[in-house]
Amino acid sequence: ATPTAVMVGTGKAAEQGILIGDGEALEQAQRLTAVVLDKTGTITTGRPSLALLSPVPGWDADELLALVAAAEAGSEHPVGEAILAAARDRGLDLPKASHFEAVPGHGIDATVGSQRVRVGNRALMASAAVDTALLETTADAAAADGQTAVFVAVDDALAGLLAVADTVRPESAEAVAQLHALGLEVWMLTGDTRATATAVAGQVGIDRVIADVLPSQKAQQVQALQADGHVVAMCGDGINDAPALAQADLGIAVGSGTDVAIAASDITLVGGDLRGIVSAIALSRRTVTTIK
Ligand code: ADP
Ligand code: MG
Repeated sequence: ATPTAVMVGTGKAAEQGILIGDGEALEQAQRLTAVVLDKTGTITTGRPSLALLSPVPGWDADELLALVAAAEAGSEHPVGEAILAAARDRGLDLPKASHFEAVPGHGIDATVGSQRVRVGNRALMASAAVDTALLETTADAAAADGQTAVFVAVDDALAGLLAVADTVRPESAEAVAQLHALGLEVWMLTGDTRATATAVAGQVGIDRVIADVLPSQKAQQVQALQADGHVVAMCGDGINDAPALAQADLGIAVGSGTDVAIAASDITLVGGDLRGIVSAIALSRRTVTTIK
């Protein structure tokens, strides 16, 4: 596009909270054939709240929540933050963790007092040989509702299940419908389980879901779509998403996201409204038409 057309176009977009890095990003937008959306914080608000607290017999609910919150105190993950907020709301006294380790894509491993506390998905429990059978049905039901369920193991024994519920952003479904109307494939990419991901995808009209993806594998998933011949936009908010944003033909950061995600992107949607992707594509098509 001519420098003038690009300047006018990107200026108009900026007024709508769509920050377009350069003319190349604008031109790339009209070549897209697939849009990949991160789930947590991109399709959803990314501020989940505790929806379920289910201790195994022998554990008191508040006692379990206090222990898990203490273990999650060092976590920057939305799941951890939701658990901490719930414990604070109940006015629980939290002991201090003496050790904290995030296990990317799986959960956390912490020491609180003399107890080893693991909180996370089935894979984390499997790696510690914790038997989750007692709470599998409850976990499945939460996931079918689109909630993220995490198991708790204390000293290698199952202690309970917690689930957090995130809400989809009000504009997500319309954005997906508009992208479909433009003839684009829309994919959800998430580290969450397939059942949870499929439930949330259903709420916004997405039928292509890549779930159970480790943070380190997100970029490879984008690359796989490119290898299939797609010109791919990746839209995400997290530190985890940066390599995938950089790998995509067009990286789109949602504005509530981390600085790392924004730095790795070509376009930033300041308010996080995914319909901005559609506006950017429309603008791209108009701008390129103008200069032809
Ligand atoms: P996403 O950003 O798509 O939600 P992540 O890779 O960050 O995916 O997380 C994948 C899964 O790992 C979560 O759905 C959750 O089950 C588990 N997990 C991650 N962090 C935590 C945490 N701090 N506490 C408990 N579970 C966690
Ligand atoms: Mg995310």
